[in-house]
Amino acid sequence: MFKRFLSYYGPVKGLFIADTVCALVLAGIDLAFPSILRSLTNGLFTQGSAAILGALGYIAAGLIGLYALRCACRYFVSAQGHIMGARMESRMREDLFDQYERFSFAYFDAHNSGDMMSRVVNDLFDICEAAHHVPEWIIICGIEIIGAFAILFTISPVLASAMAAITAVFVVIMVRQNLRMRAVFADNRRRISDVNARLQDSLAGMRVVKSFANERTERAKFRVSNDRYLDSKVAQYHVMGRYQATSALMTGVLYVTIVVLGGYLVAAGQMTAVDMATFALYITLFATPIETLVNSTENFQKAAAGFRRMDEVLRTAPDIQDKPDARPLEVREGAIEYRDVCFSYPDTEVGEGGTAPESPVIDHMNLSIRPGETIALVGPSGGGKSTTCSLLPRFYDVASGSIRIDGQDVRDVTQESLRRAIGLVQQDVYLFDGTLRDNIAYGRPGASDAEIEDAARKANIHDFIASLPEGYDTVVGERGSRLSGGQKQRVAIARVFLKDPAILILDEATSALDNESEEAVQESLERLAADRTTIIIAHRLSTIKNADEIATVERGRVVERGTHEELLVRGGTYARYYRMQFEGARARDVR
Ligand code: ADP
Repeated sequence: MFKRFLSYYGPVKGLFIADTVCALVLAGIDLAFPSILRSLTNGLFTQGSAAILGALGYIAAGLIGLYALRCACRYFVSAQGHIMGARMESRMREDLFDQYERFSFAYFDAHNSGDMMSRVVNDLFDICEAAHHVPEWIIICGIEIIGAFAILFTISPVLASAMAAITAVFVVIMVRQNLRMRAVFADNRRRISDVNARLQDSLAGMRVVKSFANERTERAKFRVSNDRYLDSKVAQYHVMGRYQATSALMTGVLYVTIVVLGGYLVAAGQMTAVDMATFALYITLFATPIETLVNSTENFQKAAAGFRRMDEVLRTAPDIQDKPDARPLEVREGAIEYRDVCFSYPDTEVGEGGTAPESPVIDHMNLSIRPGETIALVGPSGGGKSTTCSLLPRFYDVASGSIRIDGQDVRDVTQESLRRAIGLVQQDVYLFDGTLRDNIAYGRPGASDAEIEDAARKANIHDFIASLPEGYDTVVGERGSRLSGGQKQRVAIARVFLKDPAILILDEATSALDNESEEAVQESLERLAADRTTIIIAHRLSTIKNADEIATVERGRVVERGTHEELLVRGGTYARYYRMQFEGARARDVR
């Protein structure tokens, strides 16, 4: 894991080296200053004030130069160091995003989007704060500690050794405290993830929350997550406080030692008063970097907790990948064949790779669809119709058997070509927060305005768009909140017209619409389905009567298949369904 972390320094190594050099210079200057002061004071006593006055100009010029250099280095370390961290963070963010884009639906079924966002936002910030501060601190502090000790040792080996011994004891205590921090930070990461997850869930579902007037319940649920996060922060600050107190105690003990032991050594004539004062000056140079180093382990722990979570995502191999020899799908006619297909969803309760439920969702399904044919899947809810459709674009992979398009197994072709060949219109339309033009153009990025308009006309939405003051430039709001269900659906259909796929899946595309919207949508759907191999799932049987064939799917199998008339005559499941809906409708009409 550490190696993978180091790899992020690669592209910023120029900055890293410059940052390191500046950190070295900074440490050197800080280290030199008390020594210069010591020489000056000693000179004052030994050579007299006249000599000192003569040299003062040079000394001042030297010091000013040194401090100017120190300022420049401080600026570089502070600005460029952070910029380096930001660049690393940006690359990690891209890597994470790319990885999320690679995952299949099974991953998103099992993971919460708030948690995913937390990894991209909070975790990465911590990682990159540490990425530039920790090496810089190690260099600056390391040099200051070693340098200060060496200088102090030459002044008084006895006092310096006493200080080193005291410091060593405290470092051991602090490192032990620090190890305890790791668990606290890991807990912290999880808790903030939970808060983000709750927030995301509640905001995304705000319409449902409000429609059920459940704001209070939502607030209560959010408060639980938020309080847990607070508890975890409180625990974190307790540990951190103890830690800081220990390091403050160390400084105190060091000062007392200098005063008592140093005073004794001066009294015994083994050290001068100036040397003792120099010791006091170096104490800050000795103790502060130790505190900083110890504190940096706290940053490091935080970053390690974050990086571990990021690495976990990066190391998860996407379960659906192109084969190395995958070729683009060649759609010649658009024939589809499901051959003895079995499939079960991973048991998300158990976690990834958990055991499969006992009965498969798709159970030895066989279904062949002729080129250009429109086939309707009907059957009880939960029977596996949507799942059947999700397997075709490889949103999930079959457990056994195969699905072929014009004889090519969908697992042998590239996912991109496969998904470009399949158009999907679902009940739930997702529009991106942008203009109507952008949303339609999503079907084929780079499409011209004329093509976009043509697609909108075919989808029966052009007239509506043209009537808006801003036309195609109208912003649809988050998830298309400013459009009605039927309008959103027609934008989604325009998208698919523009994509112009050979194969079409209509998954309950009109189920959520009222009768009037349904009619307009239905008409454009029929236009869309013409000349394409189409699979329709619909609850309202009236919408699928015109399908070439109907297949009833029950418990993951096709149990009967034929035209509407054939199935009615056969008197099986479909006929029963049809009668139920038809009689239901008639009963409503009578009322
Ligand atoms: P239908 O479209 O016929 O209503 P589905 O294909 O949606 O049926 O669902 C078939 C079964 O698979 C149901 O038992 C459903 O609970 C389950 N299921 C559907 N989607 C998922 C999913 N993403 N994760 C786990 N189980 C699922």
